[in-house]
Amino acid sequence: MSNTEKNNGQGKAAEANQISLAQKASYDKLIANNAQWVEKRISEDPDYFINLAKGQSPEVLWIGCSDSRVPANEVTGTKPGEVFVHRNIANVCNHTDMNMLSVLDYAVNVLKVKHVIVAGHYGCGGVAAALSNKQFGIIDNWLRHIKDVYRLHAHELDRITDEKQKVNRLVELNVTEQVYNLCKTSIIQNAWMHRHDLEVHGWVIDLGSGLVKDLKVTSSSPHNLGYVYEFENAEAVAVH
Ligand SMILES: [Zn+2]
Repeated sequence: MSNTEKNNGQGKAAEANQISLAQKASYDKLIANNAQWVEKRISEDPDYFINLAKGQSPEVLWIGCSDSRVPANEVTGTKPGEVFVHRNIANVCNHTDMNMLSVLDYAVNVLKVKHVIVAGHYGCGGVAAALSNKQFGIIDNWLRHIKDVYRLHAHELDRITDEKQKVNRLVELNVTEQVYNLCKTSIIQNAWMHRHDLEVHGWVIDLGSGLVKDLKVTSSSPHNLGYVYEFENAEAVAVH
C-alpha cells in the first residue's frame, strides 16, 4: 500500500469517526435537554413530577400524523397529562388496526376523554405518496387506505390540476374519512349510547402558519354515517 493510499484510508477512517462523533452528539443532546427540562419544571414547581406521577386524566385523544413537525402538545399549547396521543403515518384510523383500536378503547372507556381529534397536516408526505404510483416499500399497504379515500372522492380530486392543491385537498378528505371511520367503530357508537359528552373532530394543521383548521366535521352521533354503519344497542338486543 502506498503512502497516498494509506493517507486516504486514514482520511476515510477519520471521516467515519467524525460522523460517529456527530451522531453521538445528537443523541447526547437529548439526554442533556431532558436534564434541563427536569430542572426547569422543578424550578417552576417543586412538586411537578410528584403530581405528574400520580396519574393522568386527559380530556382529549389526539390521533395525528407521525410527521415530526406536528407534536400534539406543542400545537395545542397543552401540558403533559392533558392529551392522550396516538400517531401513525398520515393519521389513518383503520378498523382492523389493533393498535389504534386499543388506544381508542382505553381513551374512550377508561380515561373517558370528551374529544377525539383526528389531526392531519397540509403537505403530508404520506398523503402525497398515496397519490403517486411509486413504490415505497411495506408502507404501500398502509397508504392503500388513503388511495381508497382518493377513489371515493376522485370526481372532485381529478378536477384539481395543481398537484400541491390536490395533495392538500386529499389531506382534508382523508381526515374527514378517518373521523367517519372512528364513528363507525363499536367503541365510539357504544360510548354514544351511554353518554352525550363525546365528540369526534377533524383538523388540519397548516405547517406554514402553525394554525389549525377545524374542518367542521364534528360528530356526536352515528346518524349521518349511513344506515349500514349504525349499530343497534347491543344491551337492548340482549334483553329481548
Ligand atoms: Zn403527515
